[in-house]
Amino acid sequence: MRIIDGNAIAESIIEELANEVGQLSDTKPVVAFIRVGDDPASVSYVRKKQKIADRIGIESRLYVFPSNVCKEELFAQIDELNKDNEVNGILIQAPLPEHIDETETFNRVSHNKDVDGFHTLNIGKLCQEDESGFVACTPAGIVELIKRSEIETQGKHIVVLGRSQIVGKPAALLMVRKALPGNATVTLCHSRTQNLASITCQADVLIAAIGRPNFVTADMVKEGVCVIDVGINRVKDVSRKSGYKLVGDVDFNAVESKASQITPVPGGVGPMTVAMLMHNTLRAFKATKIRSFILMLLLSLRPN
Ligand code: NDP
Repeated sequence: MRIIDGNAIAESIIEELANEVGQLSDTKPVVAFIRVGDDPASVSYVRKKQKIADRIGIESRLYVFPSNVCKEELFAQIDELNKDNEVNGILIQAPLPEHIDETETFNRVSHNKDVDGFHTLNIGKLCQEDESGFVACTPAGIVELIKRSEIETQGKHIVVLGRSQIVGKPAALLMVRKALPGNATVTLCHSRTQNLASITCQADVLIAAIGRPNFVTADMVKEGVCVIDVGINRVKDVSRKSGYKLVGDVDFNAVESKASQITPVPGGVGPMTVAMLMHNTLRAFKATKIRSFILMLLLSLRPN
């Protein structure tokens, strides 16, 4: 059994990105974060993303609004960032307060700056296997983990647990596409799936993203399975100062002896999500450069 070291893989991606950004001669990529309210997890996630951006040489700008902000004010800020030529990527930290519709907010971000990959157009491009779109960071991180861990997917049965817009559904789409990693036979399961264990037991690769601590037990997987555990769940642990520990959706201790490869929690998919956000930001930056170059070229060719 091999433990897939998400920290190490994310670290090598961060180094690759830092090298690339270091070689940029003039301007540097810029990512804007919008945070609404003071949810401690959101505060900590954004801080972490800013720290990694800083290490890579990506400038980050943070815009914070109170949790009672009205939609118009929030959207005015997004519009301003959409128009700002210096800003390449925009990320709205979820969850948003209940009075603000998340899908509408994500769609307000220009699809060219949607480094989170949540815009309807980018999700559509993923369905059409059009690689010009942005893929949501966690599923993109899963693909990169699978690729760099040399997990075979072609012709294999991949079972995805969870059908959310941000993880399960895009992960299933990525695994079924005509590409590598991909070309798999995919089964997408959710809370209404019947005889779940009989399906998970068929998985060559199991991607678990349901938000239920230690849900997948040893009797739910077959010998040799590759396990990608996306879940991040807080469970009570009085032995720790914080009073809790993080566990995945898979009962790691029970499943590891049957698995050929498995991601730990923490230190598996989590660090990959941030690395892929930075990857998307650099892509957005390069795409902006190409668009500006084409525009300049067209303007120079215009007859006087
Ligand atoms: P959601 O709550 O949006 O979706 C959960 C999905 O799991 C739903 O499709 C739900 O089914 C399904 N589900 C819930 N219970 C069961 C069950 N008993 N059996 C089968 N399916 C079930 O969660 P997210 O996708 O946002 O997140 C999933 C997990 O991944 C969470 O622990 C989250 O913290 C973590 N996460 C980790 C990230 C990372 O960077 N590592 C990033 C994002 C999320 P239904 O649709 O029927 O309700």
